[in-house]
Amino acid sequence: MEATKESKIVSNNFKVLIIGGGNCGLAIATGLKKADIDYAVFERDRENDYYNRPRDWGMLLHWGTEYLEKVLPAHLRARISDIRCDPHGDPSACSAPVPFLNALTGQLIAEFPLEGTNRVSRMKLRRFLTQGENLNVQFERCFENVVVEGDAVRVLFRDGTQETGNLVIGCDGSHSKVREFLTGYDAAQLEPVGLTMMNFPKSGYTAEEAHLLQTLHPVFKIASHPERPGNAMLAGETKRATYFCFAEVVVLIPWTVLDIPDPDDATTWKFQNYIGWWGPPYAEDLQDPDTRMDFYRTWTASLCEPFRTGALKLAEREVVPVYAGQQWAPTMAWDNHDGRVTLAGDAAHSMVPQRGQGLNHAMRDASDLVDAIQGIVSRKNTLAHLITAYEGEMRPRGATEVALSLEQAIKARDKSTIMDSPLFKMGWRRGHT
Ligand SMILES: Cc1cc2nc3c(=O)[nH]c(=O)nc-3n(C[C@H](O)[C@H](O)[C@H](O)COP(=O)(O)OP(=O)(O)OC[C@H]3O[C@@H](n4cnc5c(N)ncnc54)[C@H](O)[C@@H]3O)c2cc1C
Repeated sequence: MEATKESKIVSNNFKVLIIGGGNCGLAIATGLKKADIDYAVFERDRENDYYNRPRDWGMLLHWGTEYLEKVLPAHLRARISDIRCDPHGDPSACSAPVPFLNALTGQLIAEFPLEGTNRVSRMKLRRFLTQGENLNVQFERCFENVVVEGDAVRVLFRDGTQETGNLVIGCDGSHSKVREFLTGYDAAQLEPVGLTMMNFPKSGYTAEEAHLLQTLHPVFKIASHPERPGNAMLAGETKRATYFCFAEVVVLIPWTVLDIPDPDDATTWKFQNYIGWWGPPYAEDLQDPDTRMDFYRTWTASLCEPFRTGALKLAEREVVPVYAGQQWAPTMAWDNHDGRVTLAGDAAHSMVPQRGQGLNHAMRDASDLVDAIQGIVSRKNTLAHLITAYEGEMRPRGATEVALSLEQAIKARDKSTIMDSPLFKMGWRRGHT
């Protein structure tokens, strides 16, 4: 009883400023709220964009589940299946091996192990965390800089406002500005890896098309294209651009169900479409919307079913997004100002998605930080010691995973190396001890 009273008194004087309202920042906020520790989440986006922008994708949540569950209060833990892409389906169906196909012929190349995983929606998890606990998330608060002043940290926002607290946690994603503050601008920059991706949610399929997309596997399927994307285009001049393709290019196409609002009405089902390829054309070559969509349509028209149907269902003049594959590994130490400024999630370790690990590490970071902050407010140890200890574990763990994810992406390019890739050798297991 006394201990609870004591920690409440101390926690009232200790405030955590969380930069970024992604799933990492929200998980930290949820754990702090449960522990009755003062916090605020500062999110760059407008509230309407945050909830409605079509930036949704499915994520395999496996070893990170235990860390997410640790920060949740009991009433949310009981509803954790709400965040699954298909909340109605049999969770054990997720464990069936994932087919890895030749995207041109449909021939089965291999099967990926999938047991012990859940596929969760990025947007559902955000809503579940923000609304389930009515978190203190302040929208349109774009972080610009931080000033360390004795025991306090002052955060400056783009709109000229500021906030003061005791600890700043940068959860502001792969392009983190908090990381720039800690490591300097140059060292904080993402490293391009030569992979380009198109990834977007899609609904509006007929019932027949939606059922076709659900064949082969109920949650996930992957295909590899044996030819360069849009070989016909790459060979010569297209209407608007000429591409020169020197690199070997093999494309991975995971196609996954993203939401099944009504299992009995297949016209409501939403899917995630993803293609990724190595070498040119790069994202910067595809900035013109017509060029991009010519490329996309020409190339996906050569895919086998059900990928072709999934890809070619586009609205009139629809333009899908294109991204460069990039990464950032926390291989260097930084001055955390006696524990007053630190990083978590993609801000701390940004990896290509081919091994499905980023969210799992973000949940581990969140849970470990909540434990560390509880230790600080209950005076088990100092801010400097506990945050430095958190970083001491997180940095090698994050760096190992960034390297393993890239190794997976590279080895999956080639039939002769795919069986030697981390996913085949170790499944989705954590890459660290
Ligand atoms: C296609 C794809 C598939 C993936 N699949 C998987 C998977 O299967 N399994 C898995 O574990 N992981 C997967 N991931 C990775 C996973 O999505 C990320 O690791 C995870 O979402 C990171 O969460 P985060 O909160 O750290 O960052 P983010 O989700 O990027 O959130 C950062 C937040 O900070 C905000 N922000 C940015 N700058 C500022 C600023 N200056 N001030 C204030 N706010 C700011 C942003 O608006 C955003 O809301 C995948 C990623 C992709 C792209």
